[in-house]
Amino acid sequence: MNVIPRDQHCISRDNISDSALKVMARLRKAGHQAYLVGGAVRDLLLGGHPKDFDVATDATPEAVNDLFRNARIIGRRFRIVHVRFGREVIEVTTFRGHHGDDDTGSHAQQSASGVLLRDNVYGTLEEDAVRRDLTVNALYYDAGKFEVFDHVGGLEDLEDRLIRVIGDPRQRYTEDPVRMLRVIRFAAKLDFDIEADTADAIDDCAHLLGDIPAARLFDEFLKLFMAGYARGTLDDLLEFDLLKYLFPEASALLNEDPVALALVRSAMENTDQRIAEDKSVTPAFLLAALLWPEVRREALGQVEDGVAPLVAFNSAGQLTVADAVRHISIPRRFSQPMREIWEFQPRLEQRKGRKAAELVDHRRFRAAYDFLLLREAAGEETGGLGEFWTGIQALPLEERLQLTGAGRARKRRPRTRRGNQGQA
Ligand code: ATP
Ligand code: MG
Repeated sequence: MNVIPRDQHCISRDNISDSALKVMARLRKAGHQAYLVGGAVRDLLLGGHPKDFDVATDATPEAVNDLFRNARIIGRRFRIVHVRFGREVIEVTTFRGHHGDDDTGSHAQQSASGVLLRDNVYGTLEEDAVRRDLTVNALYYDAGKFEVFDHVGGLEDLEDRLIRVIGDPRQRYTEDPVRMLRVIRFAAKLDFDIEADTADAIDDCAHLLGDIPAARLFDEFLKLFMAGYARGTLDDLLEFDLLKYLFPEASALLNEDPVALALVRSAMENTDQRIAEDKSVTPAFLLAALLWPEVRREALGQVEDGVAPLVAFNSAGQLTVADAVRHISIPRRFSQPMREIWEFQPRLEQRKGRKAAELVDHRRFRAAYDFLLLREAAGEETGGLGEFWTGIQALPLEERLQLTGAGRARKRRPRTRRGNQGQA
């Protein structure tokens, strides 16, 4: 175990949340060990400002729970304690131990294929360190003695800007294939290189991602693409050919169609930029872009067969979503707006008539119009549609009606109804 004293690292307590410091102090006072761990230590050492703080301790979840009034034990697969301070939650995890072949107890379970099912064997700091995913994620900070503990060479890798799986990558990926996605995620987020063996083993183990439940893949999708580093993450996932485990069809189309790839890339850049500017983002927009090439191909095929465009895009959207959710769950609150964005695209091609003039006021117009611009920027040929809608949208309805050849606003019908119905 490498112990780095206070004057040889850059972590200052000033950058640690008071709540986390409180939790650790209380645990220490009760005679337990308590360390800051994981992403927070990594980001502090890199000079960043962590957004959340995880604590590791030798106290059992029950003991932690007893120490804090505002604590709650959660999780089944991993029992952890959430200690709540207003809106901030400090996650406290008990050191986890080995779960080797000799373990016949009921606390840790491994499936026949080596996948870790349950993992509640408690252990020491050293054991806890080696069961973590990456060396740079396995550093511990003792806020009482101001020392950093490194049991796996994480500091050196941090210095060399290297993502390295702890232990034998093949074994670690087999235990939990999502670790491969985490490797890509952190490499993109931190702009680190991936150590050779960590990278090579991905080719051998990638197929294991085919068995990950659809719901967990969606969770991971959000972490991969909604954290401000979507563009780099996408390129790395494509390079390692892992995108196909999340979106098989989309991944194949992106590999063969540069326009589709350009569209998805700009949607990702767009999302990254909005996050950087603290604007709101929705996964619906990214998902709409990722699956658009498939929707478009299917819909245009149907149109060729004589189906009306609005019907074709509706049906293609439905088929594409149904196909996608076989691999990755997409909650309805996201798939619904996605489909609306897609279905809006053929409607935007109508430049004539009253309907066109009124489209601008539709609640999905903005998202659909943004999506249209994205398609054009990617090189899709639309015959200047974007320009048309850019020009028309800011105008009052009266002028829009004229430009779309719909004439004036609807002529008032001669009053045939009796009396005045309350309107002046
Ligand atoms: P972020 O900045 O994205 O929150 P993080 O490092 O805190 O980064 P989390 O997903 O919050 O990442 O996980 C917290 C810690 O738990 C990690 O640093 C890692 O040590 C450990 N961990 C998370 N997922 C796994 C996994 N699948 N296998 C092993 N260890 C993991
Ligand atoms: Mg975290």
